[in-house]
Formats: sequence, structure tokens, C-alpha cells
Amino acid sequence: MAQRILTGIKPTGQLTLGNYIAVLKNLRKTIARGDSFIFIADLHALTLPIDPEILKQNSIDLAAFYLAAGLDPEKSALFLQSSVPAHAELNAIMQNYLYMGELSRMTQFKEKAGKLKENAIGLGLFAYPVLMACDIILYDANIVPVGEDQMQHIELARNLVNRFNNRYGEILTMPKAEVQKVGKRIMSLSNPLAKMSKSDPKGDIFLKDEPAVIRKKIMAAVTDSGSEVKFDEQNKPGISNLLTIYCALKDISISEAEQTFASYRYGDFKKEVADAVVNELIPFQQRYIEILNDKSYEQALKVGAKKANAIANETLKRVQKAIGLLLS
Ligand code: ATP
Ligand code: MG
Repeated sequence: MAQRILTGIKPTGQLTLGNYIAVLKNLRKTIARGDSFIFIADLHALTLPIDPEILKQNSIDLAAFYLAAGLDPEKSALFLQSSVPAHAELNAIMQNYLYMGELSRMTQFKEKAGKLKENAIGLGLFAYPVLMACDIILYDANIVPVGEDQMQHIELARNLVNRFNNRYGEILTMPKAEVQKVGKRIMSLSNPLAKMSKSDPKGDIFLKDEPAVIRKKIMAAVTDSGSEVKFDEQNKPGISNLLTIYCALKDISISEAEQTFASYRYGDFKKEVADAVVNELIPFQQRYIEILNDKSYEQALKVGAKKANAIANETLKRVQKAIGLLLS
């Protein structure tokens, strides 16, 4: 079967180096492998309170970042999730095939809901994985590039596909998560035990940070006792995170980097990591600014929504027919 690739990012805040490494860095290569559907998960962004103007601005930023990462709007569909109504329609159907028990075991829900008072936890936050499964299913995606934190949701989407197909026949395509070998979970620079996240920014490197800011953040990153630059997530989570960042950006293995830095002190090693991040992000930021200025994201989103709607509506019809909603 032809490869269908789907990936999305929520416009909940400023994009981080974690988002870059998980999705944007290899976007050009990934989308060359088949038909690709790349979206801005604006409906998902509503699962925690967000100011409307900020949501809009974040969505524009994200569109520009996707294009800066090499997305060709002629070849891939770039779109806002909310501009394809089939996501919400399929969600209304699929919420009946995922269960409260399995949804309440999702780590992301437990983490995000854990920070809220009970009467401030929206149903959308709880049901997030249902909509995410629909995002994937609608495009018959078999490849879903994500960070490790999203693996659990993809597993749930796979369960849903199995459950649905067992009942109605081979209607849905089985998706598969794809995570980076190195860099599947980038940690906070100030707390290397916590994931770098845009909606709860602590120790993040933002894709819009200026070089001097990036250098400062990396030089101030929490490191560990000892002096050896060695990968050891248990005893050296800070150094391990910096090694991971370096290797993910340079496309080399951890052991290669360990050899390179065998005689380095922490400070000198950090300078190399900072150089690697700055050198990667400077040209990327320049392209992003150009795209913001020429507004080419507007046309890209329009064309992308058209393509995405066509495919998504076909799948929706197939599902509606299978379960008895279409009368003819
Ligand atoms: P939020 O805090 O709003 O959840 P986020 O930074 O986790 O924001 P998402 O929009 O949830 O970003 O996720 C977009 C993609 O980036 C997903 O594939 C996710 O797995 C990946 N991702 C997010 N954070 C990291 C990270 N720290 N390391 C690697 N991948 C990440
Ligand atoms: Mg997230």
C-alpha cells in the first residue's frame, strides 16, 4: 500500500526544540515518502484555556514553521484541523468505540488534568485521544511521526481500528507511530526529568529564541555531578539530554558523540551543543521570517484544506455507510 503520512502539532504556545526534533527537523524527508497530511491541531489546542488572539497567532506561526521546515504545499496538504469538519463529525462517531476506562489511563490526561481543579477539567481534555485517532483515521494514515509521549495515544488509535474493523470489516487503516531513534523525548533544560513542553514552559528552547538567548539557556542547563560527558539517563539526566539534543541535530549516534567529547569538560561540551542548536536554527528562523512576511501560508492553508477535505470526506462516508448512517 502507498504510504500515507500524517502529523500534527497543537498551536498552544511557542514551538520548542522538542517539537522541532520530533516533527520539523525531518519533515522534508518524511513527506517525500508518500502522500502527506500535515496539520495544525487547533481543535486540540482548545483542551486547555487559550486566548483567541494567541491561538490565531500561534496557528499562523506554526503554518510558517511547517513551510520553513520544507513542506511543499503543492505536494503535501497543510491545513487547520478546524477547516476540515470531518474531524469533528468522525469524532462524534468514534467516541462510542473508545471507553472511559482506557481513556482515564492516558498519561497525558493524568498529567494535564492533575494540574487543574476537578471542575476545570474539560471533557475535551479527557476525550483528546478520540479526536486524535480520528485525525489519523480520516487520512488512512499508516505512518504517524510523533514524539514518544504520543505513543500511548497511537496505541489507543490502533486498538480502535482493530475494534472497529472486527465489527464492521476492513474499513479503517492501521496506523503506526514513528519516533526518532535519538531525540524521541527532549527534556527540560532546567529539570531534565520533565519533558520540554510548549504549554508548560520551563527550561524550554523556543524555535524563535535569539542565538544569544539559546546560548545562555544551554550554558545554564542543569547538569549532574561528575565531570564525564557520558550518556546515563539515570545518573546523568542533564548531560544525557544535552547529548541527545546534539546527536539528534547532527544525525549521529550517542556513542559517536561520547567519543568526540571524551576529554571535554561540561562547560566546553555545552558550548558545542549551543553551537549545534544555533547553527541549526538560524537558517530555519530566516526562512520562517520570510514566510511570515510574504504570507505564503495563507494560500498553502487554502489549497491544503481543499485536499484534506476531499480525502477526509471519503473516509467519513465509508464509516457512515459501514455503521448504518447513510440511507442510500
Ligand atoms: P503541549 O504542552 O501543548 O502538549 P507539546 O510541546 O507537548 O505541547 P504537542 O503539540 O503536544 O507539543 O506535540 C507536537 C509533537 O511534538 C508531538 O509529536 C509530540 O510527541 C512532540 N513532542 C512534544 N514535546 C516533545 C519533546 N519534549 N520531545 C520530543 N517530542 C516532543
Ligand atoms: Mg503535548
